[in-house]
Amino acid sequence: MRASLSYTKVKMPFIAPFTTSFDTQTHRTAMIFQLKAEGVTAYSECVTEIKPYYSSEDNDTSFHVIKDLLAEHVLALPRPKDFMNMDEISRIKGHNMAKAAMEMLLWDYHAKVQGIPLYKALGNTKGFADVGISIGMDEPARMAEKAVAAVTRGYKRIKVKIEKGKEDKILSAVRPAVPAFPLSADANSDYTLNDAPTLGALDKFNLVYLEQPLAHDDIIDHAELSKQMATPICLDESITSVDKARKAMQTGAARVVNIKPGRVGGLTESLAIAHLVREAGGHVWIGGMLETGIGRAFNVALASISDVDYPGDTSPNDKYFHHDIVKNPFKMMEGRIRPFESPGIGVEIDEQALAGYRLLSGVLAES
Ligand SMILES: [Mg+2]
Repeated sequence: MRASLSYTKVKMPFIAPFTTSFDTQTHRTAMIFQLKAEGVTAYSECVTEIKPYYSSEDNDTSFHVIKDLLAEHVLALPRPKDFMNMDEISRIKGHNMAKAAMEMLLWDYHAKVQGIPLYKALGNTKGFADVGISIGMDEPARMAEKAVAAVTRGYKRIKVKIEKGKEDKILSAVRPAVPAFPLSADANSDYTLNDAPTLGALDKFNLVYLEQPLAHDDIIDHAELSKQMATPICLDESITSVDKARKAMQTGAARVVNIKPGRVGGLTESLAIAHLVREAGGHVWIGGMLETGIGRAFNVALASISDVDYPGDTSPNDKYFHHDIVKNPFKMMEGRIRPFESPGIGVEIDEQALAGYRLLSGVLAES
């Protein structure tokens, strides 16, 4: 046997439920992938969730695509870019999170083969990531308390989740609690262009940006909304490729882009998007999908590239989990996290914790 690709499905309880405009999550149910070849063991995590609420993918669709369409091609151990350019892979429309799980697995694998940390393999690095916090929806007064605590802990940007009808109450509580501190709001596509007057009224809160107010796949209406309000628009869900990023910058739909490597099909596409947005005069930060320590390590490495100029949602592991599946969680110092120096993503797997959270496991492909 030269190479094997296996998976472990885990269910990990969050320290506290996390509420967005579309859902409340109490657990992270994640698929962890392991590639063993040539004496090297690489890992990745698929960022899909149980239900297709953030995007059209979910845990079952991504598992089907990985198991039935992608797995055998990973065993050829191509470079990540070559993997994505394979005829069989590039013909598959969408399913970016499934593709990203395999592409990132190959990034970890090749960095480990070379004996270099992933962040150095990505190139063009600052060597650290500035960290912001994402505060889920709760009672406005409670969200304000969390914002104050986050400033004290050293976070460099606060983001609050909002939804239609609650935006003014939430921001009226949070903004006075952290005056003049970088604050943003994320609507997770809860509004339409008809809500432009409501959204324009948020200018008074002096936000660094308003994230994804309109439909999850929209560019044009965001461009129109941008003309009607002073607050910069940040796109998250809408940016699924470098081509979508180009359209967003050309039309003025966004001045800021949140990159999540899972959403855009992996790290190669993430690097291209970050570069394009910065060249176009925009700003870039790295988001998160409430990942375990494995997915988080990829995000921290990406957030440390020079093209990322805004603090991201790469919180330390202990914000979400009492006990993660890695033995070396990230520590935040003065609002910064440094990627690990050991080869690849640099995490040490806590096999006991992984077994404790395990729902299912198996081998997907062998050669
Ligand atoms: Mg978002």
